[in-house]
Amino acid sequence: MTHVHIIGGGLAGLSAAVDVIGRARVSVYEAGPACGGRARSYYDKALDARIDNGNHLLLSANKASFRYLGLIGAEKTLIGPGAPLFPWFDLSTNTGWTLQLSKGRVPFWAFSRRRRVPGMKLGELAMLGRLLKAGPDQTVSAFLGEGMLTRRLLEPFAISALNTPLETASAALLAAIMRETLALGGTACCPWYPAEGLSESFVDPAIAHLTRLQGEVHCGTRIAGLDVQDGRVVGLKSGSETIAIGPEDKVVFAAPSPVARTLLEPHLPDFTAPDAYESIINVHYRLPGPVTARGMLAKVGFVGLVGGVAEWIYLKGEILSVTVSAANRYAARDNDELIATIWSEIRQAVGPVLVETLPEAVPPVRLVCEKRATFAATPAQDRLRPQAKTGLANLALAGDWTQTGFPSTIEGAIRSGSEAIRALGLSH
Ligand SMILES: Cc1cc2nc3c(=O)[nH]c(=O)nc-3n(C[C@H](O)[C@H](O)[C@H](O)COP(=O)(O)OP(=O)(O)OC[C@H]3O[C@@H](n4cnc5c(N)ncnc54)[C@H](O)[C@@H]3O)c2cc1C
Repeated sequence: MTHVHIIGGGLAGLSAAVDVIGRARVSVYEAGPACGGRARSYYDKALDARIDNGNHLLLSANKASFRYLGLIGAEKTLIGPGAPLFPWFDLSTNTGWTLQLSKGRVPFWAFSRRRRVPGMKLGELAMLGRLLKAGPDQTVSAFLGEGMLTRRLLEPFAISALNTPLETASAALLAAIMRETLALGGTACCPWYPAEGLSESFVDPAIAHLTRLQGEVHCGTRIAGLDVQDGRVVGLKSGSETIAIGPEDKVVFAAPSPVARTLLEPHLPDFTAPDAYESIINVHYRLPGPVTARGMLAKVGFVGLVGGVAEWIYLKGEILSVTVSAANRYAARDNDELIATIWSEIRQAVGPVLVETLPEAVPPVRLVCEKRATFAATPAQDRLRPQAKTGLANLALAGDWTQTGFPSTIEGAIRSGSEAIRALGLSH
């Protein structure tokens, strides 16, 4: 039986493993103490709580992700309102509303004052059509207008999806997301997120599934180099050992792009990979007890914000968790000042719809800044992304940074794992 060796136990590596197990022997080598990579949960001592490194949102359109969850028996671990509902709050005008997309492709929602973005003009919808035809060198800001549809929907949607300032972000990558989500209508846009944690949804069930099928997952095993002979990988160097790669064996490289550049450039002459990154900040506030929301926030579990620093607030029991994307722009700001600013935004946006009163003083808090959360989704970086197939006969690439046609997302990472298996000629 072919033995597939997978370097990296993030979602791309796990997706490759889950895809091929049963048809091949599988070993995953993960450098860290646990799998999950940029989508993981852990116990935070200061908060005395288990948290995710960052809030992650999926949309019902993310077919590969739901297929993966199905294969590992974890599809029921996500929660969401079961409808395309997005509560929003504009901090600059103190206005709240809920975007309620219509099910199908025709945007009936835009004709209803109750369902659309307040202040938007119907004419602004034409911008969406133009964006869908964006060329590979165009940036998102070249398409944006001045109206409320831009300010209150397109800008926050684009910055969350691309994690890149819109003046430099690739319009074609945004269009790729839009074609599979907004353009298909509300059925494709129902939001989902882990009920418990990222690891409980995407990682632990995958490892249990792989282990049940005799797969091996080696955490704490950093691959530091490849031995290559006659156009094939013949060994993986880890510490003082070399893992032998037999003549029938295959390798999936699913570690992040900076590692790829170091390990692969010596063996692949024309190798390129993204080399510019954007950070994401998540701030987790621990309250004395669980908070209960009223109305739409209770139904959906999160709210989107415009007009401030915070972009999404998630209610997770006694944790209020905030996401700030494309966060390189805040690098010079003091963490305590950011924490205080975001806390006051939380109090303004959700304080009035919570049953409990939020304290004025900042509660115990953890700020997590993932410096290389994603590659910068610019046209130039997108051109550096390699295909899964490489010049080495038994090596394929996976990872959200490979050429998935998507920005850095769970969906892209999971698709890339399957694509690597296809590139090795091992798909069904
Ligand atoms: C804060 C944050 C919020 C995000 N929000 C969203 C969201 O809402 N929706 C969404 O779809 N996506 C989101 N993303 C993006 C998503 O998390 C990533 O696209 C996805 O997790 C990438 O998976 P990956 O397997 O490609 O890479 P990684 O998760 O980086 O996995 C690579 C793995 O390789 C391991 N590794 C590194 N070097 C070696 C080595 N030498 N040997 C062995 N192993 C090695 C690493 O430890 C890591 O586990 C977010 C990301 C962050 C950081």
